[in-house]
Amino acid sequence: MNQVKRPVCLTIGGSDSCGGAGIQADLRVFHAFGLQGISATTALTAQNPNNITRIEPVSLAQLDAELHALFDYYDIAVVKTGMLLDGEHVALVSALLQQRHKGALVVDPVMISSSAKQLLDAGGMDALVHAILPRATLMTPNLDEAAVLLGEGICDPVVAAKKLVEQLHCAVLLKGGHGAGDELLDILCDSEGNLSEFPHPRQAWDEEQSHGTGCRLASAVAASLASGESLAPSVKKAIKFLQSH
Ligand code: PLP
Repeated sequence: MNQVKRPVCLTIGGSDSCGGAGIQADLRVFHAFGLQGISATTALTAQNPNNITRIEPVSLAQLDAELHALFDYYDIAVVKTGMLLDGEHVALVSALLQQRHKGALVVDPVMISSSAKQLLDAGGMDALVHAILPRATLMTPNLDEAAVLLGEGICDPVVAAKKLVEQLHCAVLLKGGHGAGDELLDILCDSEGNLSEFPHPRQAWDEEQSHGTGCRLASAVAASLASGESLAPSVKKAIKFLQSH
């Protein structure tokens, strides 16, 4: 067993070659929260801030070996998932979490990049809904992902957040970032249906942080949960973290 005293956070997701999103972004966030960050990779992406030019799946054998190596050594406080690619990768991750992870699970249901590349296929979506989300502590969809999960357009985000909790049986942080305007509203609906609203200004565009905001928000919530905060304070702290980093 490891001698690491800091809480350990594991991110399971895709590698972003330009470091703005994916596991690279998550590890930076965990480090900024003073935690030990570790990662297991589902896919390698070739990308820059404008485009993803190639996606190479990591073999199931490699992902399985990475996850076992990590769970064998570390006492993992919180797991965050990001880009899970397809049904086979989701099934492997869900089986392993079922066997070996008793702590919190934050799921960013990554489907399509802001450059319009598909990061989760239809089989992956089905497996995510049936095998991963029912055991998640929190999922963090944006408005587009919420519409896909609900199978309908979003007219009222509060109604949508409540419906997602009822249908998918996990707490939901519905992010307003893909809406219009400079004032955004993120809505947390916990698994009992209690609502908290987090209005905040849209972040100014920044060359280095040009994408990956969704990844960083979910990993900041995961980091805050790993530091012992409960759900709503973790979301508040994560939004504040993003505003200042
Ligand atoms: N690449 C990887 C590996 C990701 O995990 C993500 C998002 O989770 C993206 C790219 C897309 O990020 P964005 O939608 O901010 O462009």
